[in-house]
Amino acid sequence: MIETESIIAELERMFRMAPDLPKEAIIKQDILRQGLAFSQAALQVASGYKPKDYFIFSFDLVPLKEMETFEAYRSPEEIKMTGGVYELRPTIVSVRVNPASPYRVELRDGLISLVCEDVLLARLEFPPIPEYYSHKLSSGKKISEIAPAIEWGYLVYLTVYRLCQYWGKTEECRFCDLNENYRQQREEGREYTAVKGIDDIVEAMTLINQYDTVSKAYTVTGGSITTSLQGMKEGEWYARYADAIESRFAGRWIPKAVVQALPKDEVKMLHDAGYRIYHPNYEVWDRELFNWICPGKERYVGRDEWMKRIVDAAEIFGPERVIPNFVGGVEMARPHGFTDVDRAVASTTEGLDYFMSKGIIPRFTAWCPEPTSDLGRQEGPPLEYFVKLLLAWRNTFEHYNLSAPPGYGRPGVGSAEFSVSAFMDVIRVEKLPKGREIATV
Ligand code: SF4
Repeated sequence: MIETESIIAELERMFRMAPDLPKEAIIKQDILRQGLAFSQAALQVASGYKPKDYFIFSFDLVPLKEMETFEAYRSPEEIKMTGGVYELRPTIVSVRVNPASPYRVELRDGLISLVCEDVLLARLEFPPIPEYYSHKLSSGKKISEIAPAIEWGYLVYLTVYRLCQYWGKTEECRFCDLNENYRQQREEGREYTAVKGIDDIVEAMTLINQYDTVSKAYTVTGGSITTSLQGMKEGEWYARYADAIESRFAGRWIPKAVVQALPKDEVKMLHDAGYRIYHPNYEVWDRELFNWICPGKERYVGRDEWMKRIVDAAEIFGPERVIPNFVGGVEMARPHGFTDVDRAVASTTEGLDYFMSKGIIPRFTAWCPEPTSDLGRQEGPPLEYFVKLLLAWRNTFEHYNLSAPPGYGRPGVGSAEFSVSAFMDVIRVEKLPKGREIATV
């Protein structure tokens, strides 16, 4: 690993190392890796835009308590970068707050700008507040709490269960702050609903249907249910939400479920309820690291069974609609992760090849070492890891001549909406299979 003092010098080293990756994707990964700092003036401007809604995890590099200027309540959900010294095409990046980040959002010449080491990297836009946010639910809950929008409004994110039954150090996935984030948000007095009622969800989706034209997909997700919740197993419990939405608004959105790798009967319940995309996230490919990083999943399901269930789900959803996530970079977590970038990427590529050879397209989010997760504060992998991962993902994807995954908005640099990693930005639209550029739902 080559460490350089200068962020810009390292970016430029990466541009030279991977000349056919868009610069936008490389900068995006580095921002996701290091977070964003905001000046007071930028936070003031942000007050007129869509704020960070904490739609599931914190995705911050510091806890709420350490945000001296209350960025948690004031920073935007995402930024859109354009122009700057590298003449960037529009690129959307999720906001991860880090007051110590070298990437600073500030006003330059009266314009919101992204600055690093005094270099103007981009002019910025913040996401507009969706029109439906001005409407209220009859339960009194804020619609932005029940049904927030992310990815510049493309995706309505329904975390219907904000807790996970994997509990404590021996069960929770070690990178995950879902339970801790729930606790810190409640401590700070934020309205944060543990279990979202179907009535609230249906009312919110009715308002979105009426007032919003931007959203194209919704995700239903939440913590794992190891035994039962309200007397139901996980598949049945989560199936009810799509059932309630689809029975009223069939086909209005692409329905997606992010839940565990479930046995076939429960996967079928999800499909029958109307979900069209299934995300049984496997988090990390390496066998030993899966055991260490996902102790609850290992104990209750087991790594081999987990991977088998992902493949089995393709029989029900169709392979291109099974899109398991992994946490890009967590395979380098200390103290047991890989210390060598190439070995880490090689291991993860083995998983990509295993799934993509079957038409299943794993995607990734960039690991954000959240301070209240078990892995805690530690430096994530270097930028070089993410650059090599993007290359490996794209090479494998192109090798199997796959269509872009559905439910992720538009592919390609300058168009992608997906904000928590650059995998959609690096897709070369001209190389997608003709006539099936995006898989159907
Ligand atoms: S299954 Fe793991 S990643 Fe998902 S909410 Fe539970 S602890 Fe977090």
